[in-house]
Amino acid sequence: MVQLPLPKHIDERELLYRINPEKDVDGFHPYNLGRLMIGDPVFLPCTPWGVQELLVRYQIEVSRKNVVIVGRSNIVGKPLAMMLVQKAKGANATVTICHTATPNLSQYTRMADILIAAAGSPRMITGDMVHDGVVVIDVGINKVDDHLVGDVDFESVVPHASYITPVPGGVGPMTIAMLMVNTVKSAERFVSSQ
Ligand code: NAD
Repeated sequence: MVQLPLPKHIDERELLYRINPEKDVDGFHPYNLGRLMIGDPVFLPCTPWGVQELLVRYQIEVSRKNVVIVGRSNIVGKPLAMMLVQKAKGANATVTICHTATPNLSQYTRMADILIAAAGSPRMITGDMVHDGVVVIDVGINKVDDHLVGDVDFESVVPHASYITPVPGGVGPMTIAMLMVNTVKSAERFVSSQ
């Protein structure tokens, strides 16, 4: 496994390309991201998969819903959008990806039935940016004054939310759980290929 972020002198892309796709338990190799995109995944990236699994386990309907994702990284925002747009269980949503060049972000976040914050910007999503009943998944983990906060301003958003994940907790432990699932899956695939 490659633990990101890497020191600046190492080319992240070059290194990720060298991982054997059959051992790519992070799901970051272009082979696995391509399989994800066409709806035939082998190893899903752990954080997006953890978010989707949370929605499934809490029986939150995703199909036909407006999902707005704030963040377009290759490890969270983009793969998560690809997963939730598939015609599949726990997906089938209309997905909007917002990013640093999105003008008037609130215009999009207010349309969200499910809002997923993955921007790495502490408490940037506030109560006035969501509509009542919204499901809020906070992927962000940001260190502020020696403690961890999410991308969501929990206190102002919680009165509007039907569900909201905490930071710390919430998505973080799900990422670890999905990493374990992928690791066992990789080992089982290896054994059955012998
Ligand atoms: P990143 O910096 O690679 O990407 C952040 C994205 O958010 C960028 O695409 C940028 O366009 C967008 N963005 C940033 N500020 C914005 C703003 N003000 N408005 C709109 N868009 C904005 O980050 P990443 O690796 O995707 O991680 C995002 C956050 O999630 C970080 O806080 C990170 O620590 C956290 N994270 C948590 C887990 C977990 O297991 N919970 C896993 C991975 C990342």
